[in-house]
Amino acid sequence: MAGMRLMDHSTSLTKKCVACCLPISAKARKCQHCREIQKNAKSWKNRTIIDFMSAAFLLLVSVFVGYVLCGVLYKTDFTPKLIVGTSSLCTQPGQDAKRVCCLASIQNKDIFTWETLSFQAEFFDAQGHLIDVHYDRPHKKSAFATQTVQGRVVARPNAEISQYASCKLKVLSAR
Ligand SMILES: [Zn+2]
Repeated sequence: MAGMRLMDHSTSLTKKCVACCLPISAKARKCQHCREIQKNAKSWKNRTIIDFMSAAFLLLVSVFVGYVLCGVLYKTDFTPKLIVGTSSLCTQPGQDAKRVCCLASIQNKDIFTWETLSFQAEFFDAQGHLIDVHYDRPHKKSAFATQTVQGRVVARPNAEISQYASCKLKVLSAR
């Protein structure tokens, strides 16, 4: 028993040289027999973690840069990507309404963000005749990937407010 304990104790204080396999001090960086540099197990492990973390970081950076580059290269036409939902007239009710308003949800089906969306709204009377067209003022509306945003055009009506029955919103530009 005592011998076993002594052996355990001695093995924890010594290690085998990686080159000549002779016992050397566990803390030795260089073998006293053959002068071989010893790999310290603990620092080697730490270094592996650091290497792994820097590799993971580099991978993340490359994925991000790739995504941004792809967005610049492959974003060409927004019309098949920005799906306009049913437009609705959102004019405030009341006899002295000074603004006519058209509203629709815009769903971004792209994996990229479309920025600086601008809209056009066509207004129709009860018979479906085009009576007015308006454009929104340029603003910083963005639709993130897979996000749905509200598109809206509010303008001073060119026709009698009571004539407005329906509208159709279109995305005029996006980048
Ligand atoms: Zn050695």
